[in-house]
Amino acid sequence: MRFDVLTLFPELFAPLLTSGVTRRAYESKQVELVFWNPRDFAEGNYRRIDDRPFGGGPGMVMMAGPLAACLDAALAARGAAAPVVLFSPVGETLRHAAVEGWAGGEGAVLVCGRYEGIDQRFIDARVTHQVSLGDFVLSGGEIAAMALIDAVARLQSGVLGDEASHVQDSFNPALDGMLDCPHYTRPEVWNGQPVPAPLMSGHHAQIDRWRRDQRLALTAERRPELVDAARTAGRLSRADESALKKKL
Ligand code: SAH
Repeated sequence: MRFDVLTLFPELFAPLLTSGVTRRAYESKQVELVFWNPRDFAEGNYRRIDDRPFGGGPGMVMMAGPLAACLDAALAARGAAAPVVLFSPVGETLRHAAVEGWAGGEGAVLVCGRYEGIDQRFIDARVTHQVSLGDFVLSGGEIAAMALIDAVARLQSGVLGDEASHVQDSFNPALDGMLDCPHYTRPEVWNGQPVPAPLMSGHHAQIDRWRRDQRLALTAERRPELVDAARTAGRLSRADESALKKKL
């Protein structure tokens, strides 16, 4: 898939292309990234992309014109219509189900706001989706765009390798949307704390049951709505229900 990123600060994305999981996805071309700077589409000697807000108030607002010209160029280069995603506190908070949707798609144009935000007329005319990273305010959409790209990249096949398969991660439907279980590695005792006995047993069924129980207990404690959703979807076995009863 291909993401075209509209940003005033393309250099912020450099670490994504040169390190870790996102680098593998980028180099294998499973996730193509193309950067577009609205400043290159601004007019006049100063290549102005922002201006003061009508009605007064602090800060600057990104102008619709350069963004629209930049978006037109990105869409023309793609050669096909694409979702236009704006990162904004107004959007729906990003969750696993949406990430899976993007991971299975053709990509999108990602618009990173800066300053006080973007002229609403550009949003009304051109943006098809708004995505928030959470109930807090970032200085720009770039970190949110990187979060989406990273989360999508790790769902591409072969990018993580077998050992760290994403299907065992938190929220994955393969494990009924539960949170992940705790993990342990050597040494067997650290800081006076031993590794839980079932993990040392060598019995796969026992280990799987212990991990499942841990996932259920942790999710029931921290995110009970995820347990309810799994129950409603018929994903909880009798063994799951009795594990949940024991813990509550
Ligand atoms: N005035 C805006 C915040 C602007 S912050 C407000 O109060 O809602 C500048 C840019 O950062 C935004 O245009 C948006 O692209 C990005 N941004 C800020 N918080 C974000 C969040 N929680 N999720 C996604 N993007 C965010």
